[in-house]
Amino acid sequence: MSTKNNVMVFIQQDEGKIVDVSLELVSKASELAARLGVSVTGVLPGHGIEKEAQKAIQYGAAEVVCIDDKRLAYYTPVPYAKVMTQVIKKYQPQIVLYGATTTGRDLGPRIASSLKVGLTADCTDLQIGEYSYKDKVFENILYQIRPAFGGNIVATIVSPERFPQMATVREGVMKMREPDDAAKGTITKMDIEFGDQDFPTEIIKRVKEAKSVNLKGSHIIVAGGIGVGSKDDFNLIKDLAHTLGGEVGASRAAVDAGFVAKEHQIGQTGTTVRPKLYIACGISGSIQHRAGMAESSRIIAINSDPEAPIFQVAHYGIVGDLKDVIPKFIKAYKAKA
Ligand SMILES: Cc1cc2nc3c(=O)[nH]c(=O)nc-3n(C[C@H](O)[C@H](O)[C@H](O)COP(=O)(O)OP(=O)(O)OC[C@H]3O[C@@H](n4cnc5c(N)ncnc54)[C@H](O)[C@@H]3O)c2cc1C
Repeated sequence: MSTKNNVMVFIQQDEGKIVDVSLELVSKASELAARLGVSVTGVLPGHGIEKEAQKAIQYGAAEVVCIDDKRLAYYTPVPYAKVMTQVIKKYQPQIVLYGATTTGRDLGPRIASSLKVGLTADCTDLQIGEYSYKDKVFENILYQIRPAFGGNIVATIVSPERFPQMATVREGVMKMREPDDAAKGTITKMDIEFGDQDFPTEIIKRVKEAKSVNLKGSHIIVAGGIGVGSKDDFNLIKDLAHTLGGEVGASRAAVDAGFVAKEHQIGQTGTTVRPKLYIACGISGSIQHRAGMAESSRIIAINSDPEAPIFQVAHYGIVGDLKDVIPKFIKAYKAKA
């Protein structure tokens, strides 16, 4: 495949609506494509999705290939893999990106094994650069960047000799750009011939658990770590979050200690967030925690240890016992509100 072709994004939809991570990826893909002097092609399988394709154009896709079939309304691996493989073979993109959702994590490896190409899972950054190996210099290679060895190193992975270069990217990591309502692009309908053998599984019923925690959608997050001390004391974190109208977050250590449920975990193996305000209380600021919150617009850290690494990313730091600081914080806020 050529290194001159487009950057492709698998556009995932849920109940006919494009999921956020796909728009984040289209946004990032348009940056990569600009660097490469090419454009972005989205691939949107589903049913009744043509209208939604316009949305991907607003976020930077020049073309959206729609594969509309009522049997594609919900993700199942075999037909979706067939769709993606055929579209990739036809368009020969140099890069293909998938959200690291349950769907993307299932689909990406199937395509990689069918096309015999590489795939880097759970990237936290993507860049374009040069790669030299022995006497060869490869230009415009996708740097697939992700934490490795338990987050102790940040690895840059390349696959310079096999195309397309493919990666899954975690939700919330790439910044979604502002939609451009006036953006123009092409919506292409593509027919794929399916046989009964392409649908070995049938979805009989879909059960969706309602989300009780909305970390990604919250502008204010108050997060507690193991330094909070106990499940009871974690109510302080909840009180502050409630007072500020924000959501409750937590470090993995606080989750593992049973202070709060896993859905609240922020970081490499939790949710990635970028709220307007992030208040980290009793959190040391390990690299794995920072991977999920360092892009927040404003960070306040409350920690009794002045040397805690969280202060390296905090815009404001309060050195003190959170059990003293938080009640004062709440009191002061209520007095001003
Ligand atoms: C593969 C892998 C993935 C991981 N993924 C994640 C992840 O997604 N998210 C995550 O958070 N971690 C993750 N971790 C764990 C991570 O390495 C740290 O262990 C964890 O973030 C530490 O949590 P913590 O900051 O609450 O605890 P600690 O590091 O123990 O820090 C507690 C802090 O509280 C402060 N403190 C104590 N008492 C008080 C007080 N009374 N008032 C104020 N401050 C006080 C201390 O000074 C200290 O800085 C992962 C680890 C691995 C290996």
